[in-house]
Amino acid sequence: MSARRSILPVFVPHLGCPHACIFCDQRRISGQPRPVTPQDVRALVRQSAALPRSGAARQLAFYGGSFTAIPEAVQNALLEAGREAIEEGRVDSLRLSTRPDAVDEEILERLWSFGVRTIELGAQSMDEEVLRRSGRGHSAEKVRRAARLIREAGFELILQMMTGLPGDTLEKSLYTARELIALEPDGVRIYPTVIVRGTELFDLWQRGEFREHTVEEAVDWCARLLPLFEAAGIPVIRLGLNPTEELSAGEAAAGAYHPALGELVKSRILLNRARDLLLSVPAGASVRLGVRRKLLSQALGQHRQNLETLLREYPQIGLEIVPVDDAAQDLFLLGK
Ligand code: SF4
Repeated sequence: MSARRSILPVFVPHLGCPHACIFCDQRRISGQPRPVTPQDVRALVRQSAALPRSGAARQLAFYGGSFTAIPEAVQNALLEAGREAIEEGRVDSLRLSTRPDAVDEEILERLWSFGVRTIELGAQSMDEEVLRRSGRGHSAEKVRRAARLIREAGFELILQMMTGLPGDTLEKSLYTARELIALEPDGVRIYPTVIVRGTELFDLWQRGEFREHTVEEAVDWCARLLPLFEAAGIPVIRLGLNPTEELSAGEAAAGAYHPALGELVKSRILLNRARDLLLSVPAGASVRLGVRRKLLSQALGQHRQNLETLLREYPQIGLEIVPVDDAAQDLFLLGK
């Protein structure tokens, strides 16, 4: 993205959602059980004004529901509280998340007039079967159209995708990533599917009609997705649900919930890179893999799992992983 952001989040759970996506219970995911009011927004902004400013542009963000599908008067009352915060110099702009079928030119013009400058669009998948089975209620074409309108209107665009929804496969997730890249977003969020209690997905899973997207599977898939976005110069600004007390206490019944999912994925990417490098090493040779010093623990993996995996997969190679200062690459063959 063009600039660093300091985000002040306000959660508007389930407000405005015309469809109950089968994986979603925003009250549990956000930890916010009641609708938010303009007074709440003003109070939050006042509290945050006491915090030191980091120098990054500060955005007030309406997250959680489908903001632009809320009745217009409610949207405007919340946005007005946001506009006041901009006028008072407490935030620089507004940000919100919404659905692809709740975006048109008129809506975007209104949002811009209140000071919204970033829109996060929940695409979730670009595969029609996955969208249908997840109860999204919109097509992939709606995602393309909404993304184009948002960009043409001058907003910063963040796209969200999920992995492991009903009907999803690694190939479909890779396809979704490529389709999202083609929409040229300023950033993406990737949310591997978590089975939250109280959702339709939870019932499906309990009846044995949905196989959970495990942490291991999510790490494997995301380690292939992330490099695609990186190669396209698109930052992945979030990987995995933000941990909350409720989710950690058991509301996340199964699926890809792990407080350090992003770290696990980065560690897996380094493991895959090491595997590629070792392919060219002849049996009987001894090599050292150099790793950027700050990535050493990621390269070794949790409990040195990566190193053990490599030693198991390449028993014929003498292997050492060593930290290197000022390395030009994350991981590379140092030679003997
Ligand atoms: S995923 Fe988004 S659109 Fe679907 S129910 Fe949840 S908040 Fe609403």
